[in-house]
Amino acid sequence: MRVIMLGPPGAGKGTQASRLSERLGIPQLSTGDMLRAAAAKGTPVGLAAREVMARGELVSDEVVMECVRERIAEPDAATGFILDGFPRTITQAMGLDEMLAVAGTVLDAVLELRVGEAALLDRVISRAREAKAAGQPVRADDNPEALKVRLDAYRRQTEPLKDYYRLAGLLRTVDGLLPIDRITTRLLIELQL
Ligand code: AMP
Repeated sequence: MRVIMLGPPGAGKGTQASRLSERLGIPQLSTGDMLRAAAAKGTPVGLAAREVMARGELVSDEVVMECVRERIAEPDAATGFILDGFPRTITQAMGLDEMLAVAGTVLDAVLELRVGEAALLDRVISRAREAKAAGQPVRADDNPEALKVRLDAYRRQTEPLKDYYRLAGLLRTVDGLLPIDRITTRLLIELQL
């Protein structure tokens, strides 16, 4: 099964992608995690992406598409994957369609988590607080200034994907403010599982 998680920053895409990954036995592919790992390793791609990410802006389509192209070609992704944080632009969505066509596969569903903007700031601030309390590194972009930029990028560049996938008959929307378990249940129902 090949699935995309769609939604604004702080909507819970990562949390739900990880739960679905476990339930379905397919990997969660987070472009944010891939870029943060590249930045931590100090690869040229990672170093270039680090500043852009800290500001809350989007990394270039070429860089992100190349990461995804390589990742979905790995053996563990052969039977499916859950994309978390990709695509984020129409160019990326079209690039993904092409990658899948070359591989002779198609997408099964695009799962949108709907969360109003008012709730997102709270979520991002608690994520930073929880990471700090657990002694984990706090994401450089989990702060009100970067969130404003990330939301703006979401509205301008990512939200148009809803129409793109609605037209393709793939968009399924779930209320992202429900309790975590109920969201997972609803997503599994949307996937007819
Ligand atoms: P995330 O962990 O999904 O919130 O992503 C964190 C940051 O990584 C984003 O704000 C972007 O700077 C970058 N990023 C992740 N995925 C993408 C993508 N598909 N396209 C462009 N930039 C991305």
